[in-house]
Amino acid sequence: MTAIERFLMSRRDLLRGAGGMAAYAMLPGVPAEPGAIRLRLLETSDLHMFIYDYDYYRDRPDLTLGLARTAELIAAARAEAPNCLLFDNGDTIQGNPLSDDVASGRRPFADGIHPMFRVMNLLRYDAGTLGNHEFNYGLDFLGRATAGARFPIVSANISWSDGRPYAPPTAVLERTLVAADGRRHRLKIGVIGFLPPQVTIWDKARLKERVVTEDIVQAASRHVPALRRKCDLLVALCHSGPGSANGQPGAENSALALAAVPGIDVVFLGHSHRVFPGPDYAGLAGADADKGTLAGIPAVMPGFWGSHLGVIDLDLARRGGDWMVAGFSGEARPIYRREAGKVTPLGATSAPVLAAAKPEHEAARTYVNRPIGTFEAPMTSYFAIAADDPSVALINAAQIAYARPLLAGTPHASLPLLSAASPMKAGPTPDSFTDIPAGPVALRHVADLYPYPNLITAVRVNGVQVKGWLERAAAFFSRRDPGREEPQPLVAGRHPAYNFDVIAGLTYSIDITRPARYDTGGRLLDAEAGRIGDLMLDGRPLADDQEVIVVTNNYRASGGGSFPGLDGGNIVFQGPDANRDAIVRYVEEKGTVPAPAPGVWRFKAPPRPLVATFDSAPAGRDHLAAYPAIRFIGEGEAGMARYAVTLGAVPG
Ligand code: MN
Ligand code: MG
Repeated sequence: MTAIERFLMSRRDLLRGAGGMAAYAMLPGVPAEPGAIRLRLLETSDLHMFIYDYDYYRDRPDLTLGLARTAELIAAARAEAPNCLLFDNGDTIQGNPLSDDVASGRRPFADGIHPMFRVMNLLRYDAGTLGNHEFNYGLDFLGRATAGARFPIVSANISWSDGRPYAPPTAVLERTLVAADGRRHRLKIGVIGFLPPQVTIWDKARLKERVVTEDIVQAASRHVPALRRKCDLLVALCHSGPGSANGQPGAENSALALAAVPGIDVVFLGHSHRVFPGPDYAGLAGADADKGTLAGIPAVMPGFWGSHLGVIDLDLARRGGDWMVAGFSGEARPIYRREAGKVTPLGATSAPVLAAAKPEHEAARTYVNRPIGTFEAPMTSYFAIAADDPSVALINAAQIAYARPLLAGTPHASLPLLSAASPMKAGPTPDSFTDIPAGPVALRHVADLYPYPNLITAVRVNGVQVKGWLERAAAFFSRRDPGREEPQPLVAGRHPAYNFDVIAGLTYSIDITRPARYDTGGRLLDAEAGRIGDLMLDGRPLADDQEVIVVTNNYRASGGGSFPGLDGGNIVFQGPDANRDAIVRYVEEKGTVPAPAPGVWRFKAPPRPLVATFDSAPAGRDHLAAYPAIRFIGEGEAGMARYAVTLGAVPG
């Protein structure tokens, strides 16, 4: 431990120790000491280019999202506190048809500035950091976009492969703050940023050999001591969830471990699209989910798409020559309330924000409404986690149609061609499902089916690896106790359905009464365990040594989701086109698309019928006729409806 680290450690201990505890009172109602400074720090995160309160896929307003709404909370928070700084925590410029249209290069940025940064400049952000999704459109585009930001964008754990920092690792903001006694003080606020080091895996196709990343805590240990010497207060913009206090090196979610690094005063979280403080993280070891602390220091995570504004109030007191945090409070303020399924906005929209991005918003609406073909049947994802699903089948059909001609004439052409896809939109809110009516199809419908700008990628694997892939996907389901007749949840907790890959070209069953081979993070639990049965290729059992080509996306092929055997090493084809482009091409070439025939997987029927429950959107009730094993049973959580699937109720 260096001298400065010892100094910082003792300073932190002092604050946390007996002497410091009394000072750690919650702020509301506690008058500031004369001479103390009340400083308010605001955070947005995971805005994903939602400037307007608009759902481009459905081409209608959505009151649960949009920086235009968060902006009104920012204005109100600033009006309450004379000393206020505003930060953004990344995943800022990618995530909807507006972002895709802006990134397409069809038009230069109006006035030369990327619309998100135009709006953020207008809102006078003080600093920002990069999320993982910033890299989805490539480094050249990201460079042109961030060039328009009139505030520093810091990131301490990504650098060019020659070692130069990709972005400034840290920044020091000098601000004049007004103390409770009216005196003015010049304070230096240090800012440091972090992103999940996995970006180089998730976007390998675009980042390979160009940039490298570093473990979040390791990067903090390198940069925080020097930054601490230059500032009075140190704020970490951590585009990462809490994870656990003793996380593995290189962990995707590292905010808890980061908060324990001496010298950091405040941690802003993101990436997990959840809310902190609050019930999302109740009981998390090392965190106080009521008060809003990680490892004892204030922390906040403001949901996603502008749903919340993170607010941390600090009481800064002068001890000796140093300013230190003598008290704090934190909250995530929502832009809306949902009661009995009805959304009530808690404020207005900011007219200047809407005006600033209007040209791009209108262009995006035109772009997504371009007709591309006709669907003979509705395409929904309401029951994609409980039954073989037509929306997943369509993605797989399009991927195979795209890849087959490209593989012709290669050494892989003689191998069976399979395709892996997953439900991309399957909750957790009633609005986050795919719902494409039968009839004319527009581009926005395809974007709704496949919201991520992934690239078509094919891997060459054998039968053992295919089984491992499916076992990892089957970890999505909780274990159904065959000895209990009363309903049990199909899925324990909230796991992303995009890790529930379905591999078309095969047929198989999933036995959820048996233990899973992997956990939902992809860690091997029991190599002997398995849920996949009746695995057939062309009517014959899939042999262990049978080689096959599987078309998937760059995220999965490069190791995203920690699937066994997928680490980028067996990629045989990396498309220049996005998976979504393949779907658009498929619909355009077919003209009229019949209802895709799923018939890939089914739940293994237990000896006696068993019931498992799950939540989906209430709108799914209109589509139940196509799902004989599924029925509506009542209200679910947070505006969702609860359904039950009976295993073994119907033949198949
Ligand atoms: Mn995000
Ligand atoms: Mg993220």
